[in-house]
Amino acid sequence: MSEKTIFEKIIDRELPADIVHEDDICICFRDINPQAPTHLLVVPKKRIVRIAESSPEDQTILGHLMLIVNKVAHQEDFAEDGFRTVINNGPHGGEEVPHLHLHILAGRQMLWPPG
Ligand code: C5P
Repeated sequence: MSEKTIFEKIIDRELPADIVHEDDICICFRDINPQAPTHLLVVPKKRIVRIAESSPEDQTILGHLMLIVNKVAHQEDFAEDGFRTVINNGPHGGEEVPHLHLHILAGRQMLWPPG
């Protein structure tokens, strides 16, 4: 695999991040450029490049990421008010970092359709 992504450097503690959850499978930290009062990223430790490059063998990891969204939504106390989870995939999706990550946006009213 090519050189480490920004997120692998955060996982390896080579770059700082405000981490709110970590386990053997993933890490969750605050986005450095928040688009809502609360903006978290859930990132698998395995470098799955993007959801369109995931495979059936990633099923346990992908399910785990969803359960961590649930966990941190309660931990950070925005589960009841509501929130949005987003995965940007490829050029039209607005993906910047080629390492799968789930955005969690909370703390304000979300709009639909998204931009
Ligand atoms: O989905 P996309 O690839 O566009 O999102 C990447 C996200 O990673 C951005 O929201 C950006 O602010 C965030 N980021 C971060 N910390 C870094 C570099 C990028 O939170 N050091």
